Amino acid sequence: MASYIREFNEIEKPKDYYEGLIEGIEKLNGTYDAFNVINKSARTGFLFSTKANICVKGFETDAGSKMLKGYVPPFNATVADRMLAKKDFSFIGVTNMDEFGFGTFGINTEIPAKNAFDSEYVAGGSSSGSAVATAMIKYHVSVAESTGGSIAAPAALNGVVGFTPTYGSVSRYGLIDYANSLDKIGVMARSSEDARIVFDRIRGRDDYDTTCSVEKISSEKKSRIFVMDSMLSKADQKVRGAFERLLDRLSRDYSVEHVDSATMEKAIAPYYIIAMAEASTNLAKYTGYKYGAMSQDFYKQYNEFFTDAREGFGIEAKRRILLGTFIRSESVKDKYYAKALAIRSMIMHEMDRLLKDGYILSPTLPITAPKIADARKLSPVENYAMDLFTIPPNLGGFPHISFPYDYIDGMPLGAQLVTGHGNDYAILDFVKEWESSFNYTYKHNLGEL
Ligand code: GLN
Repeated sequence: MASYIREFNEIEKPKDYYEGLIEGIEKLNGTYDAFNVINKSARTGFLFSTKANICVKGFETDAGSKMLKGYVPPFNATVADRMLAKKDFSFIGVTNMDEFGFGTFGINTEIPAKNAFDSEYVAGGSSSGSAVATAMIKYHVSVAESTGGSIAAPAALNGVVGFTPTYGSVSRYGLIDYANSLDKIGVMARSSEDARIVFDRIRGRDDYDTTCSVEKISSEKKSRIFVMDSMLSKADQKVRGAFERLLDRLSRDYSVEHVDSATMEKAIAPYYIIAMAEASTNLAKYTGYKYGAMSQDFYKQYNEFFTDAREGFGIEAKRRILLGTFIRSESVKDKYYAKALAIRSMIMHEMDRLLKDGYILSPTLPITAPKIADARKLSPVENYAMDLFTIPPNLGGFPHISFPYDYIDGMPLGAQLVTGHGNDYAILDFVKEWESSFNYTYKHNLGEL
């Protein structure tokens, strides 16, 4: 698949191109709920959308939460500014997401986005709408965000490319934080080339975000691919079967090596401890006083006032506030938080060592998309277990890309390729090579917008 961005500049567009397109998007959105807000005045260039936790001036940015309903940012996030700078991209809208990024299926929000292949199925999360919008519209990319897999997971479930760059390579100014030591802004696109074009547009130093310090991006090609056998054994049997076929194919050009990791498969617990601890501090500002839905009754008692305001959080946000606050408390912080940090650095070291020699490849998710009704029945721990493969690279801040490679019963499958810090171009190149030899075709039945 070549670049849709380049192709777009070459095609002849009818006079009413944008009118027709926007009408089509609105119609489909009635079923798929990919967008929270559609910008009807998009009239030039290639379309891009942003996840609802990235501020775009003048457009409601609620991070999927009732708490931020009605919040219209008076400024642009740096990534939005950079996308708009040359007028070759037009902003088409704000995409649906799990509340504050808390989720893997896109169902932790008022109205979930629906899978582009079948609207009864989950879109994946937390950047659910970004993935569905990317599957929906041909000449479009989405700027999304990942803390523990939120770009890779929905990309896999909707058959698009989801690229999460090295931690600290893209400015987070104007991002509504989930967990600061983990959050990364990245791209969803229909091709690796488009992901790269957008990455190059948005990355690089920013005076407004001093944590954005990674400037040099390389393309150091590796000839070895590591597969974590013990982790793979936890994937659904059909997913495993398809993945083995992918490995077979890749083994023509790469040396595929089966290894085991004692630490990587334990990444879920430390991730959730760290993510919840950080999330609970980030959410502390939504008191209804300065941030968050305003309670009108100032004559209430202190506790009552704040309790009322924090009713605006959904169930998963409340769970994370409670657990995160507990984890950080004086009496248990060493037992949980400090231990999680120690395991995190073990995982990072182990991955770093492997990634010097090759890539790590896995299925993106251990399953294909479940039905929305079935996903709702999963316990929180069952939900968290779905992040088995996406969490290790996120915990380590390693760049990773999910690319579509097959189908099971008509639903798409993604594979996740990870490389070392700053070697982002290598995995984009890998997928480009794969795209041109494999010729993956979209099968969703949304029609072609
Ligand atoms: N599923 C993970 C979580 O709920 C990751 C979400 C994300 O990357 N924002 O924390």
